[in-house]
Amino acid sequence: MTRQGLLIVISGPSGAGKGTVCRALLEKCPELVLSVSKTTRQPRAGEEDGVNYFFVSREDFEDSIANGDFLEYAYVYGQYYGTPRSTVENLLNDGRDVILEIDTQGAMKVMEAFSAGIFIFLMPPSGEELRSRIINRGTESEESLNRRLSAAANEVSLAPKYDYIVVNDRVESARDKIAAIIQAEKLQVSRNSDLIEAIAEEVKS
Ligand code: 5GP
Repeated sequence: MTRQGLLIVISGPSGAGKGTVCRALLEKCPELVLSVSKTTRQPRAGEEDGVNYFFVSREDFEDSIANGDFLEYAYVYGQYYGTPRSTVENLLNDGRDVILEIDTQGAMKVMEAFSAGIFIFLMPPSGEELRSRIINRGTESEESLNRRLSAAANEVSLAPKYDYIVVNDRVESARDKIAAIIQAEKLQVSRNSDLIEAIAEEVKS
């Protein structure tokens, strides 16, 4: 029987560097699979449909919500983002370890639906740094900037609900810590009962 894969949720406030750390993690650990989300936002320069996201219309997204096609979805700054349920479930059933890079609203929903997941909160190195990253993203009106800063403060307050906190002071260091968490989780006794039984059987025979 194939062992069920791990569902690893990497989440945290926008500006924590989730995307960069996840890309570095996938380069270091190519056996991990990143779940590609659906979104209604427009592609940015260099983004590809089916690679960064599946870019869909609002109507298409709302149909998927009605059909129960999402493991979780969230409405972030006027756009929908969601994790396709069947792709993730099929990968886990095939024994693949799946990474979800999602916002904190989505992570809270996955915690309710999938308590066996591993929940990692990516923390910016300081509040000051997070403020300046959000401010430097530019093109924001003062009102929208204040909304983002107060949303970021709310998101940081959710950190105690996660299993692990990784501070993103340097990308390589955050990447290595997440790889170590995944490694340790795979070595948990509760995830290796079939191995223990098999060795015990072999010793007896
Ligand atoms: P961006 O538009 O910058 O790519 O993403 C905006 C935010 O949406 C980021 O915090 C990102 O992690 C989050 N996000 C991306 N995909 C998903 C998803 O499928 N579900 C949820 N809940 N958040 C997502």
